[in-house]
Amino acid sequence: MTQTVSPPVDDVLAAVPRGLFIDGAWVESGDGAVIDVVDPATEQVVASVASATVEDGLAAVEAAQRALPAWAKMPPRERGEILRRAFELMTARAEELALLDVVENGKTLVDARGEVAYAAEFFRWYAEEAVRLHGTVQTAPNGGNRILTLRQPIGVAVLVTPWNFPLAMATRKIGPALAAGCTVVLKPASETPLSALAIARILEEAGVPAGVVNVVSSKRSGAVVGAMVDDPRVRKLSFTGSTEVGRVLLERAARTVVSCAMELGGNAPFLVFDDADLDAAVDGAMIAKMRNGGEACTAANRFYVQAGIARDFTEAFAARMSALSIGPGHHDGVDLGPLVNAESRDKVAALVADAQQTGARTVTGGQAPQRTGFFYEPTVLGEVPGNAALLREEIFGPVAPVVTFTEEAEAVAAANDTEFGLVSYVYTGDLARGLRVSEALDSGMVGLNRGVVSDPAAPFGGTKQSGLGREGGHEGMLEFTEEKYVATDW
Ligand code: NAP
Ligand code: MG
Repeated sequence: MTQTVSPPVDDVLAAVPRGLFIDGAWVESGDGAVIDVVDPATEQVVASVASATVEDGLAAVEAAQRALPAWAKMPPRERGEILRRAFELMTARAEELALLDVVENGKTLVDARGEVAYAAEFFRWYAEEAVRLHGTVQTAPNGGNRILTLRQPIGVAVLVTPWNFPLAMATRKIGPALAAGCTVVLKPASETPLSALAIARILEEAGVPAGVVNVVSSKRSGAVVGAMVDDPRVRKLSFTGSTEVGRVLLERAARTVVSCAMELGGNAPFLVFDDADLDAAVDGAMIAKMRNGGEACTAANRFYVQAGIARDFTEAFAARMSALSIGPGHHDGVDLGPLVNAESRDKVAALVADAQQTGARTVTGGQAPQRTGFFYEPTVLGEVPGNAALLREEIFGPVAPVVTFTEEAEAVAAANDTEFGLVSYVYTGDLARGLRVSEALDSGMVGLNRGVVSDPAAPFGGTKQSGLGREGGHEGMLEFTEEKYVATDW
């Protein structure tokens, strides 16, 4: 027996604006085009929102440029207080935002509530950081000159976000940009524009002046984002999404030498040593793999387990995975919602089929259930051969391949054998080993006896082809500034 929580989903959907948000006004697309938003649990269209044209995108850039001088000059304390009000409004509307997230993304209500809290925290954190943009004073080595540095807003920023955390990826960019004194144009993912529109409405209510935040949802992503990046008034591109699209945008940004922050794909290894606490490692594996149904850039993609603990770990992990119940994310007792769309589900199914053909053993799951919605069973694969495609590619679904190792060095080498470097996880009872392995892993973040690393106060980002720059923490605000050096002699 399942039961839908209040408030009713229809009321929540009805309250979300459907237009583009440009220069403080809600407007239709220049050519009337729309994006149909699909609930991945029902495969039904739940809303249609405006799909921006190139001209709409450029109008948003124009508005952001006009709003920039006054916003950059506004006292940081006032900018911070607007962000603080946005945090409070998000918190007050947490349940509505969570339901919206469930309906357009497919995640469970538990995950969605977690995302709302995480997303709102970026507004609170950057409300506090807005007043902490420091400069430096230094005596030059020759003893005469003084070296002064100051941080100024970089200018108009284009923000491009993915569908997997539609609220948090937006606030993780808007928060620091606004705190630093920049104005923005946000292009959310076409799968999940409603969350971004709901955030724009909240920022409007919080007192963000017209033109400071603009939202241009669009199915014509390449054309609209490309034209905005080509516009010399745009000085920052902050992108979160696939490495494939990130490469295209880095090339595009070269034309106008736009500063880029790139949060791209991952292929996180999860290492479990013989000396690990088994229960803690399984708990960590569940969250690292199954947060957001596996649709996270930080999702554990490959499990390397030492021979002495491999059987116990795999059995306990598979038991937990097979106990998860599948269904629409806002129904009570559901642990795993659908994937975002049919292509994602089919990609996961193809990766599992490939692994099975190369000789992997299916411990649990391994199929898409016969039902409406883009569901896939929680799956654990054992004895996965090194040539299986899912060890190299981002799975982005509820599938856990397990590989056994004997030596620490072998595990580290396998973990680092990827073009990605977002996050790695290590479970061990030996602190020295934990720190040694953390240093040796080539990734921007390490979860040491932790299955989740995301924290608005910490610098989030990757090495290698997982990206450039950091989001969150103080560093996240510096991404939206330019450092100016003033040479003087007093
Ligand atoms: P995606 O296909 O790269 O799309 C990301 C965003 O880029 C969407 O808004 C998309 O718009 C837009 N886009 C697509 N093609 C474009 C183009 N040619 N020019 C400009 N913009 C374009 O990624 P996704 O499938 O939404 O998200 C999953 C990926 O995001 C995964 O690889 C995941 O690892 C990564 N991710 C990384 C992080 C991180 O912090 N490192 C966090 C979350 C997700 P449309 O929706 O209209 O196509
Ligand atoms: Mg959808």
